[in-house]
Amino acid sequence: MRPFEYARPETEAEAIEFLNDHGGQTAVLAGGTDLLNLLKADVVTTQRVVDIKHVPSFHEVVPEQGGVKIGALVTLEELHDHPLLAEYRSLLDVIDGVRAIQIQSSGTLAGDLCHHPNCWYYRNGYGLLALEKGESLVTSGDNRYHAVFGNQGPAKFVSASRFAPGLIAWGAKVRVIGPQPTEAEWVPLEYFFITPRTNQQGTTILKPGQMISHVWLPDPGVTRSATYEVLQLEGLDWPLAAAAACLQIEGGTVRQARLVMGHVAPVPWIASDAARWLVGQSVNEETAGMAADMAVSRATPLSQNEYKVQLARTAVKRAILKAAGLLTMEGA
Ligand SMILES: Cc1cc2nc3c(=O)[nH]c(=O)nc-3n(C[C@H](O)[C@H](O)[C@H](O)COP(=O)(O)OP(=O)(O)OC[C@H]3O[C@@H](n4cnc5c(N)ncnc54)[C@H](O)[C@@H]3O)c2cc1C
Repeated sequence: MRPFEYARPETEAEAIEFLNDHGGQTAVLAGGTDLLNLLKADVVTTQRVVDIKHVPSFHEVVPEQGGVKIGALVTLEELHDHPLLAEYRSLLDVIDGVRAIQIQSSGTLAGDLCHHPNCWYYRNGYGLLALEKGESLVTSGDNRYHAVFGNQGPAKFVSASRFAPGLIAWGAKVRVIGPQPTEAEWVPLEYFFITPRTNQQGTTILKPGQMISHVWLPDPGVTRSATYEVLQLEGLDWPLAAAAACLQIEGGTVRQARLVMGHVAPVPWIASDAARWLVGQSVNEETAGMAADMAVSRATPLSQNEYKVQLARTAVKRAILKAAGLLTMEGA
């Protein structure tokens, strides 16, 4: 590991000041469950680590503008147990799926949103785009866990965030602070992730000197939600495909729907056509299956990952059925 400075701010403004030094060649340390691995492997290099754990506002969960404002540092376990979050079922589904109490107690909400891709080429030092002599190592190599949507450009990895599909389906926003100490902006989470065209662009809109301070969720109202993740292992594992659904159902008919897939594209993948089609339908095995067919109809699998399209279809179908309270058997 290369040497770096350690900074411990106590306010939001101080955190931004520390992040801005060294020309922004700095990194936010939250739970540290992934950043430390990246630093040890030399995949991320930084002049300074900014440990944000001592900024009180980053730990809060408070009512705000009819919804809930959640600090960047709130851990998976705290999210799971907080009474203000009990109605956001799709987020609790994700936490239940992270089957390691160590990660649940130290992994944080914003750490998940900013988690670097798990692509093995990236993790072995080939950069986000995994190019060698201008050619994609992913296209010609082992691409079984890579993207099946949004992969026509140079980026073929999948977005690693497990909360993003559920949060986007809820219409969540993130508060981005910096690069000036008093600068802050609420950004809809669906615009937070980017598909990079160069190795330097990163996977989010965050620029040097910026970070997430909070996430905001709207009032759950009568919306029902669920996330369905397809995991290979019973233990700690990353999903092969996932889907989150938020549905408003009145008199047995869907009035509003949002469907978002995860781990299938370089960004969380919103299935707008399928969600639009679902509005006006009653949810059952057949309609959920038809919406799922629509959600994956434009997939562009790589040489070794066509199986992920079927898994994504299953995830969408089961997320819809689960949100409607109809996932009684797992044979869908
Ligand atoms: C060995 C191991 C295996 C794991 N396997 C899995 C797994 O299979 N499935 C799973 O779901 N999780 C897994 N995790 C956990 C995962 O790392 C955490 O759940 C979580 O995603 C990271 O949270 P963190 O707070 O520890 O982030 P950190 O490691 O502190 O940070 C992660 C990244 O986000 C950035 N960051 C953090 N906070 C902010 C912020 N507020 N603003 C801007 N950038 C920020 C950091 O700079 C860093 O780049 C694993 C962890 C370990 C150690």
